[in-house]
Amino acid sequence: GQLGPEQSGLVVAHFGSQVDVEDSDGRSQRCHLRANLDNLVTGDRVTWCAGDSTGVVVARQPRHSELLRPDPYGKLKPVAANIDQIFIVIAPYPEPHANLIDRYLVAAEAVAIEPVLLLNKIDLLAQDPERARALDQLLAIYPTLGYRLLRASSHSEALQQLHSALQGRTSVFVGQSGVGKSSLVNALLPAAGLRVAALSEQRQKGTHTTTTAQLFHLPAGGSLIDSPGIREFGLWHMTRQQVDSGFPEFRELLGHCRFRDCRHEREPGCAILTGAANGSISSSRLQSYRHIISSLGDYGA
Ligand code: GDP
Ligand code: ZN
Repeated sequence: GQLGPEQSGLVVAHFGSQVDVEDSDGRSQRCHLRANLDNLVTGDRVTWCAGDSTGVVVARQPRHSELLRPDPYGKLKPVAANIDQIFIVIAPYPEPHANLIDRYLVAAEAVAIEPVLLLNKIDLLAQDPERARALDQLLAIYPTLGYRLLRASSHSEALQQLHSALQGRTSVFVGQSGVGKSSLVNALLPAAGLRVAALSEQRQKGTHTTTTAQLFHLPAGGSLIDSPGIREFGLWHMTRQQVDSGFPEFRELLGHCRFRDCRHEREPGCAILTGAANGSISSSRLQSYRHIISSLGDYGA
């Protein structure tokens, strides 16, 4: 068929070997990829030509960030591109653990995308002052390390902080099952349910359009990329190197331990232990660090 002129566009969904590309007016079209292109992901900026029924993507523009996850063979593959911030969603229930929060932070540092801690379900805290205090205690360290901490409730109007944090940026929600990620997406984007339903309908018609990630423009501003795979970000294998550089307050100390392979347990001349003793490193963060390192299995793979 006839192809229109080259224009720039945004990949808003990707399927097997096809993508949906949106033009600057927000209209999207299913597209094939030129033969030299592969691995386009949601969030990619591309050059493309619209067609009668399907368009063609001719080039991919450079990415400023990539969300990576391992494929079934353990090789890291991008699953979304050009993400500005990762919201690590936590909630009073299921009870958050510092280990897990720190693991998410390490994963975000590893892909060099800004993490933001988002405490959801704050409506539950009014009746539960004890839990509120425990959470305050758990979370107090993070703003002092330079991480933003926001509060929200997907069950009330308490979304103002979140709306403004989402403005003008492309974001993802990650976090444990049950913290309210779906509820947040639905609260921010009343039409999301409809669009997901439309996709599974297409699938039933036999077009094999298993989408891996979808980009939504939020009515209040900003974009969200979402998929079941993206929500699991941070839970897969990480390396010793990633863990070491994922604790920003450890970074400058790590080079100063007496032993290069220091485990920061009881070694003499350990800069991290000294930091913990003089209060420049929190004991909770040190515990998380050890926990994550020991979960790597063969210590340092
Ligand atoms: P996900 O697994 O992270 O996607 O979590 P869901 O969105 O499925 O939410 C898990 C449960 O928490 C559901 O029963 C929700 O109704 C509930 N929930 C989600 N957000 C809130 C909230 O802001 N306040 C309260 N009280 N419950 C919430
Ligand atoms: Zn050490």
